[in-house]
Amino acid sequence: MKKNMKKQKKKFKIYSPKIKEECGVFGISNTPDASTLTALGLHALQHRGQEGCGIVSFDGEKYHSEKRFGLVGDNFNKEKVLKKLPGKYAIGHNRYSTTGGTALRNVQPFFADTNAGGIGVAHNGNLTNAITLRNKLVQEGAIFYTTSDTETIVQLIAKSKRTKTIEKIVDAIFHIQGGYALAMMTQNTLIGVRDPYGIRPLVIGKLKNSYVFTSETCALDIIGAKFVREVENGEIVYTENDELKSLKPFSPKKIRPCIFEYIYFSRPDSILNGKTAYEHRKNFGAQLAEEDNLEADIVVPVPDSGNASALGYAQKKGISFDLGLIRNHYVGRTFIEPSQKIRSLGVKLKLNSNLSVIKNKKIILVDDSLVRGTTSHKIVKMLYESGAKEVHVRIASPEIKYPDFYGVDTPTKKELLAANKSVKEICDFINAKSLKYLTLDGLYKAMGFEKRNDTYPQLTDHYFTGDYPVKIIDELGKDKVTQLSLLSTTSNN
Ligand code: AMP
Repeated sequence: MKKNMKKQKKKFKIYSPKIKEECGVFGISNTPDASTLTALGLHALQHRGQEGCGIVSFDGEKYHSEKRFGLVGDNFNKEKVLKKLPGKYAIGHNRYSTTGGTALRNVQPFFADTNAGGIGVAHNGNLTNAITLRNKLVQEGAIFYTTSDTETIVQLIAKSKRTKTIEKIVDAIFHIQGGYALAMMTQNTLIGVRDPYGIRPLVIGKLKNSYVFTSETCALDIIGAKFVREVENGEIVYTENDELKSLKPFSPKKIRPCIFEYIYFSRPDSILNGKTAYEHRKNFGAQLAEEDNLEADIVVPVPDSGNASALGYAQKKGISFDLGLIRNHYVGRTFIEPSQKIRSLGVKLKLNSNLSVIKNKKIILVDDSLVRGTTSHKIVKMLYESGAKEVHVRIASPEIKYPDFYGVDTPTKKELLAANKSVKEICDFINAKSLKYLTLDGLYKAMGFEKRNDTYPQLTDHYFTGDYPVKIIDELGKDKVTQLSLLSTTSNN
C-alpha cells in the first residue's frame, strides 16, 4: 500500500491547498471582436501570470471556452483559435500559481451552468476563507473539480437561492473574504467585483459601446479603450442594456489598495490612483535618495523591476544613472531552471554585467524590493567579479517581514530575509558594502500622504507592518483540509 502511494506521488504531484495566485483578468461587453480584444488585453497583462491563460465567450446561444498552458502570445495568436471563441461577450484570465503542480482544469476562466443560466468567472486574488468554505460546501454535497479557491465562488453563486444572477453574485460575495477582483459574464451582462478593501485592482474602460473590466489600465491602452475609472472597493459593476450599473452591497469602508501593486506588481505604464506606477516608483526612489547621504559614481538599476526607482534616486541625487546590468528578455518564468550543476558554473541566465559601465566604479544598486535576497546576492557578486569598486544596495520599499495571503506571491515568514535577519545581517548575506531600505514613513510620504494613519492605514501594507485588514481564517489552523486530494495532470484536457 505504502509502496503504491509512493509510486503515485512520483507519478503525480499532489496539489497543495495553498495555491497562491496573482493573475490578471479582462472582460469586454457588446463587441463583435470580443475574444480577439480579450486576447490583446491578456497580452498586456502577461506580467501578472505566465503559467496559463484562458478565454470564455458567449455567441448569443452558447458559451465557448479555450484554455492553454503558457503565454497568451503563443496561444491566442491565430485566427484558428480565436474563431473557436465567437460572440460579443468575452472574459479572459492569466494565471500564475506558485505552489503545487499544474493542471489545465485550474486554468481560468471557470464556467458553470446555474438555474439562472451560464456564468463565466475570472478571479485575481486570494480568498482567506476558501478552505473553510470549501469544506462546508463539500459536507453539504458539493463536488469540486479544481483546487482553485475561485471554484468556491462559482459554487456559492450556483448554490444561491436568489433568482437573478446579479443577486446570486451578491449572495456569494457576502460569504467570501480576502483580496479579490472578479471579471464575470453571463449571456448579456459583464460583471466586475472588487473586494471590500479594494486590495486587488480592477478598472473600467470604454470602447465605443463596449465596457471593459480589467486588472490594469495597460490592458485598456492596448485596445484603444478609454479609462473611465477604478472600480471602487466593495463595488459591483455590471452592464445592463449597454449601460453601466453599480451596486455597493457592503457597509462602506475606506479603500486600502495593496501597496505591492505600486511597488512591483503593476506594469509601469498602468495608472494607479491617478498616477502611473512608473511615477509612483520614481517617487519611491527619490524619497529613498532623500533619506540617504551616500555619494557614488553611478546609480545602477536592477532591470526591469528597479528601473523607475533607480532613475528617481539618481535624479534626486544628481548622480549619473547607468545601465550596469543587461537583461536577457527571452527568459520568462516558464523557462526551465538550470540544474544546480549548471547554475554553479555561473550561467548568467537573466542578467549580465555591463563591463564598460561598472569597472572601478562606486555603485549604488537599486531594486524595488528584497524578498529572499536571492537577486541581490547574485547581482552584487556579479558586479564585484566584473570589477566594481564598491557596491551599495538600496531598496525602494521597506523590509518585507510578513507573508501575504491576498494574492501576491511572497514566501512564508521563514523564507523572508527581513523577518529573520537585521539590516546589517542582510547586508552581510548579500555581500554589499552597505544596504538601506526606504522607510515606511518615506513610502507613505512618497505617495502623497502626510504620514501613515496607524488607526486606519491608507494602504494594505502588511508586508512591512503585519497589519492584515482581512482575517486569515484558513491559516488559523482551525480547519483541516479533508478533500483536497486532486492529482495534477499533464494532459491538455
Ligand atoms: P528576492 O530575489 O527573493 O530577494 O526577490 C526580490 C526580487 O524579486 C526583486 O527584483 C523584485 O523585483 C522581485 N519580486 C518582488 N516581489 C515579487 C513577486 N511577488 N513575484 C516575483 N518577483 C518578485
